[in-house]
Amino acid sequence: MTAHPDYDIFIIGGGAVGCAVARELARYQVTVALAEAAPDVAAGASGRNSAVIHAGFNNRPGSLMAALCVQGSRGFPALCDELDVPYKITGKLLVAFDEADLATLRRLKDQGDRNGCRGLRLLDREELRARLPRTGGIGAMESPFTGVFDPFQYTVALAENAKANGVDFYLSHRVTAIEKGPEGFAVTAGGTVFRARRVVNCAGLHSAEVSALAGIEGYRIYPCRGEYFILDKTDVLPMPIYPAPKQGAGGLGVHLTPTIHGNLIIGPSAEYIDDPEDTASTGPVLDRLFREAVQLLPGLERKQIIGAYCGVRPKQAPPGEGGYWDFVIREEEACPGLVNLIGIESPGLTASVPIARMVAEILGRGMDLVPDPSFDGHRTGILRFKDQAPAAQAALIAADPDYGEVICRCQTVTRAELRQAIENPLGVKTVAGIKYRAWATTGRCQGGYCLPKIAQMLTEDYGLAPEEVTYRGEGSALFTGRVK
Ligand SMILES: Cc1cc2nc3c(=O)[nH]c(=O)nc-3n(C[C@H](O)[C@H](O)[C@H](O)COP(=O)(O)OP(=O)(O)OC[C@H]3O[C@@H](n4cnc5c(N)ncnc54)[C@H](O)[C@@H]3O)c2cc1C
Repeated sequence: MTAHPDYDIFIIGGGAVGCAVARELARYQVTVALAEAAPDVAAGASGRNSAVIHAGFNNRPGSLMAALCVQGSRGFPALCDELDVPYKITGKLLVAFDEADLATLRRLKDQGDRNGCRGLRLLDREELRARLPRTGGIGAMESPFTGVFDPFQYTVALAENAKANGVDFYLSHRVTAIEKGPEGFAVTAGGTVFRARRVVNCAGLHSAEVSALAGIEGYRIYPCRGEYFILDKTDVLPMPIYPAPKQGAGGLGVHLTPTIHGNLIIGPSAEYIDDPEDTASTGPVLDRLFREAVQLLPGLERKQIIGAYCGVRPKQAPPGEGGYWDFVIREEEACPGLVNLIGIESPGLTASVPIARMVAEILGRGMDLVPDPSFDGHRTGILRFKDQAPAAQAALIAADPDYGEVICRCQTVTRAELRQAIENPLGVKTVAGIKYRAWATTGRCQGGYCLPKIAQMLTEDYGLAPEEVTYRGEGSALFTGRVK
């Protein structure tokens, strides 16, 4: 086993929260490392969700969830601008189908007002029809500052900016042991022992296990799966529409959400499962999703479906109880120096940066966090050909002929963009990592045309042997050998 130089702070988990914590700590004169079990960031819930910037009316007044979500929602546009992440403030409608739903909407409006959400408004049947003629329902609540964004690119952007500001990333490094000594912690990750003064546990679904590695037992995470359908590009819906939520449900109800990339997603379901890694899509649940979606937006057709995916919530509320328990974000008294983040379910993406600030504040009580004047929070992402005006496209092609070759036809992604995705600052070379960075293979043909071309770029341009090309790391090789 190899030993590694010391760090001041060691973060476990490279989801949106771990990466936000990494970026937040990069503002200070401390050495920071982040270990992620998967070969890329955003491999857990952060890459598998509804991608909604929540306003904060769903959460109990006085809870961390409410306060951090409202802060996150207000800061999200500026944050996305700083990190070059696509987002759009669309607004959102919560639709009522009966009197009980209308009462729920009144309660949510009151709760949202108390939480500091801006502009919440109740709409009657006529106003709802005028806003969305195809929608069923007898009334609605409008939340004008809800939005949508790309959560994968968001997490990548946080990580890249943290790395540019000095944080070391260790991908494919699962943490398997944590020992607490008088001087701090010895953390074993990917077979290497790292020494650190402080440890921040952002391990999502595995946060209770990671806490137990450090000797803090007693947390329990119940995985709760949410399945989705992805529909082909459409402009039928300008904003997310949700049903009024039901008491004690594991999630917010099956909703329809236009994605930042122009597709529509239906979901998620809420089903408690045993295996946190079980991200299967299942026929009966998907059938039910579609039925519920048609109630919200009559006229949807199954032939519009191009894919399915699912995400798993790290719930603290047990199956019989449902609903939400508040985020746990605390330094453990029985293990000073360990900051645990437990049960970071929705709205964890929206709240990720305020959560990270709270972690920095907790750490700052026990160690000097001196601002680093060289910190630069700006990050530039891949320059998207299809988003440019014709003159700018011509200039791009003149400067770099690879902008003139479209590799993903469904999403108009050029060779130049894929090259930038492959040369990503975190050094990720999986097909999934390139797919989500460049947004290739995600269209109607689901990679039928461009996936082999991307694999070819990885082998011919970047020197990987075909057998080394994987979809998502170990166990997902795309090729097993030559046939001729
Ligand atoms: C179905 C669904 C819909 C959602 N919709 C929204 C939404 O619209 N808006 C919103 O704001 N929030 C939403 N959320 C919530 C949001 O996705 C999560 O709160 C957020 O992504 C949590 O981020 P995280 O970094 O804590 O966890 P994760 O993204 O799960 O990251 C944890 C990471 O830790 C790693 N890890 C685990 N164990 C170890 C170990 N031993 N060593 C090293 N690494 C380890 C994992 O591989 C993983 O990458 C949704 C969640 C789900 C499941």
